[in-house]
Amino acid sequence: MQANKPEERIEGGVAVWEERWHPLREEWVIVAAHRQDRPWSGETVQREEQSVPRYLSDCYLCPGNPRISGEVNPKYNGVFVFDNDHPCVGNSAPSELEPPAGIYRSRPARGIARVVCYTPRHDLSLAQLELSEVANLLGAWQAQYTDLGNRPEINHVLIFENKGEVVGVSNPHPHCQIYATNFVFKTIETEARASERYFAETGHPIFADIIAAEQQDGRRIICENETAMAFLPIFARYAYEVFVAPRKTHASLAALDDREIEDLAGILREVLIRFDNLWRMPFPYVMPLHQAPTDGGDYGAFHFHIEFHPPLRKPNLLKYLAGPEIGGGNFLSDTAAEEKAAELRAQAPVHYKASTQ
Ligand SMILES: [Zn+2]
Ligand SMILES: [Zn+2]
Repeated sequence: MQANKPEERIEGGVAVWEERWHPLREEWVIVAAHRQDRPWSGETVQREEQSVPRYLSDCYLCPGNPRISGEVNPKYNGVFVFDNDHPCVGNSAPSELEPPAGIYRSRPARGIARVVCYTPRHDLSLAQLELSEVANLLGAWQAQYTDLGNRPEINHVLIFENKGEVVGVSNPHPHCQIYATNFVFKTIETEARASERYFAETGHPIFADIIAAEQQDGRRIICENETAMAFLPIFARYAYEVFVAPRKTHASLAALDDREIEDLAGILREVLIRFDNLWRMPFPYVMPLHQAPTDGGDYGAFHFHIEFHPPLRKPNLLKYLAGPEIGGGNFLSDTAAEEKAAELRAQAPVHYKASTQ
């Protein structure tokens, strides 16, 4: 091992062993990054990369193919959005519910669920799209947030991508989902409350101060440009929990101007490329956009950002949620954000498959 690796700077048995405050979730994260958890040393996953075709006749997301509902996808170019054929929420959900017993409450599962295909190409991932295609996708997300968020019955628009079999996605066709709901998802509600309270107390948006602190320290920044940046925050709960955000506080993606969209697309793309290059494999993740609720409240202090929650700690090692997380509700991380950020910074910003596409 080389002496300049960040983890080598720390002698003794422990790299980081402390509790770190997550200011957006308002909870503690226990970080116990012990030395026996050896840093990644560069081996790659031993597995055949299956060759994926550009078009698959039985893929329900490929252009021109029928879906389960019987509808046929147009021969689309670029981004294609449709209403989910199997929504978890929908405007046709039963509106008359039998009241449950005693203190229990229920209500109709109201909302709109959509699917967004990033590209007609079945064989690509978001990490492999051109910069202009990523910028176009951000534009499509802006339009969806505005269209759905403006509807009076929609109080929140959650845009997210699940990627990889390890998070339950069997169809590799690059796509994300949108849940536009009559309620505000819990994490957003918590972040909005934290943002509002912090602003009332200090006069600053909380996320702007998080960015300032990350910049002051510098060790956890992955990449940045004039108006956007990516960092692995000090309070990361997952080994590779990267945040991508515009520098300026905007309540949603929809408020970014063209320049900021372009910059954000560049940073997002670079993070995705570094993820894939890390183990030279398609890197699985859950990627939610955290945007202000659309319930009519004042969210001037809410700072839109994209979070990555990658489930793997190493190529074949899942982060299991167990006693502390499921049982107690707080995360225990056995890796230090400083070390993981350095690993990602060490990757090339050109996709490992770029020459073979
Ligand atoms: Zn497909
Ligand atoms: Zn967030």
